[in-house]
Amino acid sequence: MAEPSFPIAGRTVWVAGHRGLVGSAIVRRLAGEPIGGLITATSAEVDLRRQDVTEAFVRSERPDVLILAAARVGGIHANRSAQGQFLYDNLMIAANCLEAARANGVAKTVVLGSSCIYPRGAHQPMGEDQLLTGPLEPTNEGYAIAKIAALELAKMYRRQYGMDAISLMPTNLYGPEDNFDLETSHVLPALLHKIHNARATSAATVPVWGTGRPRREFLHVDDLAEATIFALERYSGEQHLNVGTGKDISIRELAELIAEIVGWEGELEFDPDMPDGTPRKLLDISRIEALGWSPSIGLREGIAATYDWFLANSESIVTRPR
Ligand code: GDP
Repeated sequence: MAEPSFPIAGRTVWVAGHRGLVGSAIVRRLAGEPIGGLITATSAEVDLRRQDVTEAFVRSERPDVLILAAARVGGIHANRSAQGQFLYDNLMIAANCLEAARANGVAKTVVLGSSCIYPRGAHQPMGEDQLLTGPLEPTNEGYAIAKIAALELAKMYRRQYGMDAISLMPTNLYGPEDNFDLETSHVLPALLHKIHNARATSAATVPVWGTGRPRREFLHVDDLAEATIFALERYSGEQHLNVGTGKDISIRELAELIAEIVGWEGELEFDPDMPDGTPRKLLDISRIEALGWSPSIGLREGIAATYDWFLANSESIVTRPR
């Protein structure tokens, strides 16, 4: 592979959102790199929704690199019940961080978004050019609008100020340090937790929201961390890049796979009163693959590793502050 155009060696790297699923994976990945220093702050220390606080932090820390993994995230239920908060928090975090990075000469910025930026009826698999071609999925519209604004801001700051900011749009993620709360989490950690509880209590059934028919693509967060460092060092352009596996499965198939991994043999009870959300979300990953990155963690292997992590941390995972 060609030499990196932006080698990370010796640079100070601010990982915004370092305690979350994505940020913590990036911190683990950076542990193997000869960087000049890691900069982090909890949301209690630096509230990125506040411009004055964010600017003061960046002015004093002066990072060379910003990896923007801070966000308010949640599963379908959390998203649809607090659209305003998801829009406001994510809009403010993105605008404040990008502006502070620009004003303080951050040399490279990576914005992390989500595949929910694409229209509900997008052609599958979704190429980057599907952005802004149709109406969004209503259950996560607030979050999606904020993430679209973030990637557009990065693009326009590149055009107007020559800022080296790139954007990555990962598919549904899972792995260690995820939110396993049954109400607010995404489907994979929720089903892992529910099915684990069912095995522990010898329950005969597990409730699964919706019809089980929607299809989703799942990427282990360590693969995203790899893609992030890959793109940071080797890609510079206004075109955002999809990051996924290029493979999807139905929610029913996911639940059955998790049941197999956990070792529970009961019955799945689908609840059609809960929303299905978008019918299918599968990314076209040919752009990033052409640059030289591809995923390496298979779904079965990734879920098994995540379940091991869950078992090792089950005392503290649900209530741990972020
Ligand atoms: P989405 O990809 O934005 O729709 O977010 P989720 O990961 O929250 O949900 C994906 C799909 O899984 C939706 O069709 C949900 O209805 C379904 N699902 C089934 N059971 C659950 C559950 O216990 N929690 C969540 N969050 N989703 C579930």
